[in-house]
Amino acid sequence: MKSYSKNDLYDISELEIKRIWDYFYNNIESILKYKDLYNNMMSVFGKCPDYIQECAIENNFFSVPDIYYKASEDIGKKLSEIILCKNDYDIYDVLECLAMQGGKYAVSTFIELNKNNELKKNLSEYHFENIIHMYANIGGWDFDDFGNKIVLIYDNCVSIRKSEYKNNVLNFFNVIDNICPRCGNNMVNIVSVDCNNDMLKFLNLEGIITVSCCIDCVCYYEYYSKYNVDGTNKPIFDKELIDNAVTNSNDEGMINFLQDIRGYSDNNFFTLDSISSSVFYSSYDWEENSIGGFAHWVDDANYTKCPECGKTMKYLMQVNNDLILSGSLYICICSDCCITSVSYQQT
Ligand SMILES: [Zn+2]
Ligand SMILES: [Zn+2]
Repeated sequence: MKSYSKNDLYDISELEIKRIWDYFYNNIESILKYKDLYNNMMSVFGKCPDYIQECAIENNFFSVPDIYYKASEDIGKKLSEIILCKNDYDIYDVLECLAMQGGKYAVSTFIELNKNNELKKNLSEYHFENIIHMYANIGGWDFDDFGNKIVLIYDNCVSIRKSEYKNNVLNFFNVIDNICPRCGNNMVNIVSVDCNNDMLKFLNLEGIITVSCCIDCVCYYEYYSKYNVDGTNKPIFDKELIDNAVTNSNDEGMINFLQDIRGYSDNNFFTLDSISSSVFYSSYDWEENSIGGFAHWVDDANYTKCPECGKTMKYLMQVNNDLILSGSLYICICSDCCITSVSYQQT
């Protein structure tokens, strides 16, 4: 099987694309063997064709959950039945598949499972309370106490590329005057993004959204800020962050690091990639910078809770950068309260 990069896949013929899907259809398990090619196909096309989804469930193939992304309600029903009938299949795998399917049977099944304390205990002794929510999060959604599905991802993804020219849409890494209450160093505007840009209309957000954090302490704590549409924002510090203040604020490494960041935005420009891409565009690749779609979570998905309304926040953006060593920043948003969060996961 010839391997194609994401970029190659935009250029090859429809016939060749069909040939690849057909190969997976005839050899469903081979998706594991050709995982890179499969991931690239999903990155570009966003969904397996129906006939592959049907083939997967007929063959009880549950090792690659995203095959089932947006599969038919018929398939959702079958996956639910497998879970509720407690067949011999690995329930973890099937739950991930059902989360990816994300239809009405998925939501009702997750809600039912969440009421079953015995089952939750069996699933994990560590995440007893949240375990069912964590599985739903794998599919990019959550549910509330009233049985409503809450979608946690935007259904489009735009990737970000370096550019030779400055533009007003994206601006990364600016040291600001606000001081981190934990370490006493200057905070950093991770990104300002102009959501009025045509390519970002799918976000349904207004104005320029600026997201900031302490580039050092974000390794340990989540940072929140309240944004205004004019691009200004105000940090909201978690009590835990303030309570855990450290005293060695004149850490030389950190001062040098901030020095490196100063001037970064004057010399490094970014632009939105005009190639349309799918929700999975960045989800297999932590080195991608992108807005919308699924994140590539290094660890478990971490959709933060809004400090104002308490709702689970929506994933907005993944930032990887020459400045962030061996890790990834994830930005979530509550557009009701105009609040963003930044968290970090290390590779
Ligand atoms: Zn700090
Ligand atoms: Zn909120």
